[in-house]
Amino acid sequence: NRSNSLSAFETLESNVRSYSRFFPVVFKKAAGAILEDETGREFIDFLSGAAVLNYGHNDPYFLSEAIDYLQTKGIIHALDMATSAKREFIEYFVATILRPRGLTYKFQFCGPTGANAVEAALKLARKATGRHSIISFTNGYHGVSLGALAVTGNRHYRGAAGFPPTGGVFMPYDGYSGADNDTSDYLARVLADSSSGVDLPAAIILETIQGEGGINLASKEWLQSLERLCRKNDILLIVDDIQAGCGRTGSFFSFEFAGISPDIVLLSKSLSGCGLPLSLVLLKPEFDVWQPGDHSGTFRGNSLALVTATAALRKYWTDEKLSARVTETGRVMNERLWKIAQNNRDSLSVRGRGMMWGLDCGTGGVAENIAHKAFEDGLVIERCGAEDHVIKLLPPLTIDEQTLQRGLDILDKAVHASG
Ligand code: PMP
Repeated sequence: NRSNSLSAFETLESNVRSYSRFFPVVFKKAAGAILEDETGREFIDFLSGAAVLNYGHNDPYFLSEAIDYLQTKGIIHALDMATSAKREFIEYFVATILRPRGLTYKFQFCGPTGANAVEAALKLARKATGRHSIISFTNGYHGVSLGALAVTGNRHYRGAAGFPPTGGVFMPYDGYSGADNDTSDYLARVLADSSSGVDLPAAIILETIQGEGGINLASKEWLQSLERLCRKNDILLIVDDIQAGCGRTGSFFSFEFAGISPDIVLLSKSLSGCGLPLSLVLLKPEFDVWQPGDHSGTFRGNSLALVTATAALRKYWTDEKLSARVTETGRVMNERLWKIAQNNRDSLSVRGRGMMWGLDCGTGGVAENIAHKAFEDGLVIERCGAEDHVIKLLPPLTIDEQTLQRGLDILDKAVHASG
């Protein structure tokens, strides 16, 4: 008898309200790009758990791998022990992702969330260099734990700490804002100037596409010049690929288009393929300065998530056309989004790469109105950017053309209605 059940609002109100969004239904089921609420109403999912569900909800292959593993008494929790699930994941990752790209990394499994990987990377960079500060970029997002927050460039998130999180140095004139603002040149001058007050940092941390920050794209040239700066000054380059990685931009790692080779790469979100929490630090072997006991934790590298992560790698490897499809679908999205923008109002603009797109709606609450209207019509979308002014579009990479277009139709209508 559901009549005594809590409403969506009550269900969420019984939790603390620290998460930013609220969708006024209780979701019950999901498959592919479709979410279903408890009344049976369907919603197209263009949020994908903030890029957690690159393969959509409940992919039958991942489910069957997980069920097989459980039914054969596979180990779920193993602390830091070697398990067959972990070995298979590492072997598969090396064979299908690292080796073909000429990359060599050691693996560090972290606590379940992306921020856990960020914390480990910052700590490692400090230990490896003996330096403290970390350069990060305005509008960058790396998580809400205190270390990650110190390098997150958003006033609202930082304000929630109640005191200024320290350890990060922001570059306000950054390479995400266009060719006129060349941070790498600026940074080189600041670091060379002993009176600048900026000490040589341990690391630079960046996203190649700022996800939470508003879908801001780093250019190939900017990434390359930052890499050169890092090499010259023995600064570690950390690419936070937690949101943009695992195939979202049309290549497994989002930095491949720039031909750079970061010292540390962070993955989480879509790594397990099906939404099970897993996070990973990939580090160049020369920076493995950890000693036993330096960085431990109870829940790291959950075996069930590693089983589905290996299944996701297998799918990525065997579906040779996936990357090409992501690029092609991205082209379709770009074209359609520009049409939506131009048909409705001049102030809208579109940016993105692969299947990671943003519709910038400017100020004045337009994005909020669009998101609410779209939800009423059956489309789940999130907003991002410093003022929550960008509609973020992250459909599953596996979405079919018809569902994609249906979602974009709903968006079109919502943009029109909010004009
Ligand atoms: N880095 C990036 C780029 C992210 O997008 C996020 C999450 N949105 C994080 C780190 C933090 O991950 P988590 O929320 O799992 O801690």
